[in-house]
Amino acid sequence: MTEIGRNIERLRSEMPQGVKIVAVSKFHPVESLMQAYDAGQRAFGENRAQELVGKVGMMPGDVSWHFIGKLQKNKVRMVVRHVSLIQSIDSEALLRLVDAEAARAGRVVDVLLELHVAREETKSGFSADEMLALQDCGEIAALRNVRVCGLMAMASFVEDARQIEREFGEARSMFERLRCGMFAGRDEFAVLSMGMSDDWRIAVDCGSTMVRIGTTIFGAREY
Ligand SMILES: *Cc1c(COP(=O)(O)O)cnc(C)c1O
Repeated sequence: MTEIGRNIERLRSEMPQGVKIVAVSKFHPVESLMQAYDAGQRAFGENRAQELVGKVGMMPGDVSWHFIGKLQKNKVRMVVRHVSLIQSIDSEALLRLVDAEAARAGRVVDVLLELHVAREETKSGFSADEMLALQDCGEIAALRNVRVCGLMAMASFVEDARQIEREFGEARSMFERLRCGMFAGRDEFAVLSMGMSDDWRIAVDCGSTMVRIGTTIFGAREY
């Protein structure tokens, strides 16, 4: 067993039932992804379109690819054909564009709406108000080529566990609110993606159903 394989097994043994692990493989070479694959990992997350598409061709066909980064409009067409989940929908315009490109490609693409909860300008996503406005306009649920499967959120990059908990708590509340509101009766709206290497335990305690783990699996990234 490789070190990466052992890291995944350890993580799995610590993860509560029902929490899905996405291996965030950005900046890591395909050899590292293959070590994770050989340990049974199938969901991988990338944050750059070019890198994702390049890796798709070099990895086995049963990998499911998650896009987790800032998605530029001119990259939507490229990404839509390969992904099983776009986690980082940060505007209504982007959601509509993904819907249009998915229609062109003859697909239905699963997406998560990204909620901005961090006290940091650098992180993106809908504000709570924007998300509620989306709910009020009601048109989103009518889009045919995207399936909104839940929310994604990132906490502030801080040491203060209580602040992180507060932010994940906000995401959880919004998730519940939409689940009983705009997405009521839609069983697919069931994913709450939050938690990374340093804060996944807090995220899971706050109700996360999907964690996105890079460093703990693959080691430090070299940019
Ligand atoms: C890079 C990244 C991660 C993984 O971060 P680690 O701290 O390496 O686990 C998770 N989510 C998003 C959106 C990322 O960009």
